Amino acid sequence: MKLGLIGNPVAHSRSPALHRAALIAAGLDGDYTAHRVAPGTVEDVVRSLWKDGVIGLNVTLPLKVEVLSLCDELSDVAIRAGAVNTLHRLNNGVIHGTNTDVSGGIFPLKQRGIELSGANVLVLGAGGAARGIVVGLLAKGVARIGVLNRTITRAQHLAAELNDARICTISIDSGELAAFQPSIIINATSIGLGSTPLNADQAFGWFQRLPLSSWSIVFGYDLVYSTQNTSGMTGWTPFREVIQDAGAATIDGWEMLVRQAALSFAIWTKTDVETAYAAMLATPRAAR
Ligand code: NDP
Repeated sequence: MKLGLIGNPVAHSRSPALHRAALIAAGLDGDYTAHRVAPGTVEDVVRSLWKDGVIGLNVTLPLKVEVLSLCDELSDVAIRAGAVNTLHRLNNGVIHGTNTDVSGGIFPLKQRGIELSGANVLVLGAGGAARGIVVGLLAKGVARIGVLNRTITRAQHLAAELNDARICTISIDSGELAAFQPSIIINATSIGLGSTPLNADQAFGWFQRLPLSSWSIVFGYDLVYSTQNTSGMTGWTPFREVIQDAGAATIDGWEMLVRQAALSFAIWTKTDVETAYAAMLATPRAAR
């Protein structure tokens, strides 16, 4: 069974290691390889991979929107998210596109029993990851979602596209932000990605502008995944440190990464998602 990943860059992706572990756990013969796609070549690359016998592809940055047009059919969630992270070539040759980031992103919250129904959730960021998590939160019955982004027009665009009265946009220094009273805060910006002490300092500056002492945050969820172990935290990120200092439990994006991978794997191979998830979760976060 031939599987793979397309994006740019892909060299440091953990997806091949995750999917190879799942192939072994499922007792399947096959491989999962990463393909770097140069700008403007995605259609040719994908066509040649299908020709080569590949049946499933994950899609990462910056191609998640571009591949929408390469699909013969799209799942409802891909349409709502406006992005595809999983391509599946069906037996009849039809290319099906879906998005496992949405359900993968909500999974760690669900698994911890975090109450989403009726919650006020603050989402930092307004890119593709933010959009996916907002779609997932809306489906789980949250009361309100505040979207806070450095570029406010991008947050407004996201809110207009998703067109749901529960979404509002908030700016960082506004009085509305303190009054919003989120119980859950999610970092969907790329701040903290590959943190070094230097850029972590800059990130602390941004997160420390949040009026955390006016809120009762129960959970902080960083979609950025990290390989660092600092301050006694596996998967340390600047966001987690700031939110944890304010007294809330936190996680990074590793479980989301693994869950979306396991969901894609289960779609392609028609095998049990929990077996794939367990095998993938046991994979080291960083290449050894
Ligand atoms: P995008 O490039 O689409 O969006 C990046 C977001 O980060 C924008 O909202 C941008 O704001 C904001 N941002 C970047 N730098 C700064 C800064 N210095 N100060 C304030 N805001 C900043 O990326 P994605 O939405 O696709 O991904 C965001 C992150 O989510 C990724 O870096 C990745 O770590 C994580 N992710 C994790 C996944 C997982 O499985 N765990 C899956 C997908 C993503 P602006 O609009 O103003 O530029």
